[in-house]
Amino acid sequence: MPEPAAALGPKPAEYDAAWVRAKYDLERDKRLRTDAVEQYVEVTADFSHYADDPYCEPLEREPVRDHVQVAFIGAGLGTIIAAARLREAGVTDIRVLDTAGDFGGTWYWNRYPGAQCDIESYIYLPLLEELNYLPTERYAHGTEIRTHLQNAARHYRLYDNALLQTTVTGLRWDDAAAVWVVSTNRGDEFTANLVTISPGSLSRPKLPGIPGINEFAGHTFHTSRWDYGYTGGDETGGLTGLTDKKVGVIGTGSTGLQCIPFLGEWAEKLYVFQRTPSTISERNNRPTDPDWAATLKPGWQRERMENFTRVTAGVEMDLDLTDDGWTRKSLELAEPAVIRETARLGREMTPEEITDLLFRLDWEAMERLRTRIDDTVTDPATAESLKAWYRINCKRLGFHDQYLLTFNRPNVTLVDTDGRGVERFTENAVVVGGVEYELDALVFATGFEVGTEFTRQLGFEVTGRDGVRLSDKWAKGMRTFHGLQTNGFPNCFFLGYTQSGVSPNYTHTAEERARHFAYLVTAFLERGASTIEATREAEDSWLTAMHEASEKPKAFYAECTPSYLSSEGDKENPHGMLATNYGGKPTDFFQMLADWRAAGQLEGVVIR
Ligand code: NDP
Repeated sequence: MPEPAAALGPKPAEYDAAWVRAKYDLERDKRLRTDAVEQYVEVTADFSHYADDPYCEPLEREPVRDHVQVAFIGAGLGTIIAAARLREAGVTDIRVLDTAGDFGGTWYWNRYPGAQCDIESYIYLPLLEELNYLPTERYAHGTEIRTHLQNAARHYRLYDNALLQTTVTGLRWDDAAAVWVVSTNRGDEFTANLVTISPGSLSRPKLPGIPGINEFAGHTFHTSRWDYGYTGGDETGGLTGLTDKKVGVIGTGSTGLQCIPFLGEWAEKLYVFQRTPSTISERNNRPTDPDWAATLKPGWQRERMENFTRVTAGVEMDLDLTDDGWTRKSLELAEPAVIRETARLGREMTPEEITDLLFRLDWEAMERLRTRIDDTVTDPATAESLKAWYRINCKRLGFHDQYLLTFNRPNVTLVDTDGRGVERFTENAVVVGGVEYELDALVFATGFEVGTEFTRQLGFEVTGRDGVRLSDKWAKGMRTFHGLQTNGFPNCFFLGYTQSGVSPNYTHTAEERARHFAYLVTAFLERGASTIEATREAEDSWLTAMHEASEKPKAFYAECTPSYLSSEGDKENPHGMLATNYGGKPTDFFQMLADWRAAGQLEGVVIR
């Protein structure tokens, strides 16, 4: 157990590894809770309206009863790339389904003011060369990303046969006909030779299970369903509806830090209820330089994307094409630092020396961020509360140039809950430390459901061969081969993050999976086959590889302050990200898929 705060003593003037470790442990332990992911409220029953679509008019249509070759469930980035690759491979009969009113996935739903991608747009927006498009700024805003994704869907004719505003209610394998039967909430029942499931891993809003959440009578909404009817304005700001309102926001993660500057600018009074501060690095966004754009040669996007993933995975240190906060962090704080130090010492480093070196470098980077807060925020107590006390990778990195400045506004108050979170709600207030903060409106920037069963997040059951239900098969955790297929569920593919290598740039992960998926589908079609399925043995061997690769990240996150990345500190959660993401380097995973394809044996996959 860590020392109590009083015994820890003030921060020493010089770096003191023991003090730092004790401080990090202390801050983590304040936040650890036995209810882990169960602390959140599911957006069902009384809370289901938090997931309603505020962005489209209701649509009436007749139920569909027909057959398609490939049905894609989910109209986000993963589907758009994979469907594009299938179109390029000559597949014409495609249907995309989504609850949302349009294509875009995350970028359809997340329209809060200031929504912006924190990965460079030139590698995050997919299919740029195919669409002959270059984003207008280095870190694109939500509207541009959403428009681009919808243009891509148009370019690849994905609207043609799409069923939008349509929620799948069940998928059932018909073994005799070798088709999937797809049912929806609109009475559709159609068949498909192949289905893909791409629900997104951060898509279902979650709410904090704070006592009294149902009693609060003020206006509330989740950031992924922003209520512009109430706030006025749009994604660029102009929230004129808030000028006479006392507003609260719970959540200071990547979403909170992007929308809080706008709430601070427009609300009469803003209270920011903070449980754990994010790290806030500089953003330095800028318009796309036309001279740079003119230098780009065919194939540039793939090269840049691959280079980013190699640099952030620590396997490339000589060429950094992106050269931003993500890549610099890896070059300074990961394997390249060890290589440099080894060269300096002129000998191999011991494992302890490596651990100590990486810990100290991490501390120095965090100290620079903490100093940035002191230099920016005028009130010393607020500045102190905004400082993050954990290793830099414990939470998703934050980048923003206005967030910290917002706390210098006279109408903005940071309510630091010191790791404990909001205490309770009353009918008109949020209570922290016994103090009631009266509010007209409360914004939940509390993130998305993670660490619960796959089919719960999906919202429907998938019934495979012999009536086996996916919720039963995966009751103790996901089981896939390479993250794309699972035995007993022929002709069904999973896109997204299911047991896959993860680049910080999701688009790269999606690209690699789409490439592999298109290869498998092409092999299936070329053989004029009726089923394609992973074997049980292949699945078992991939599970073994998954377990081995998860040891290192598990050890790392055990020391971290809790977050959705660590299932809120429950590192053994079989449905958590540590179990559902491949814990090794994404570059190894992508290479392994490429080698598997190059071998041409389809080992572990049976096509009949
Ligand atoms: P997060 O889960 O990262 O953040 C949720 C926030 O709610 C945290 O600050 C959390 O505090 C706080 N919270 C939860 N419960 C309570 C409580 N009871 N009392 C007080 N505070 C509470 O969600 P986000 O939507 O911010 O981000 C999710 C992910 O979405 C990101 O990590 C990123 O992957 C993605 N994203 C990406 C963007 C991009 O630019 N590409 C932009 C925005 C999001 P605590 O930290 O203590 O748990």
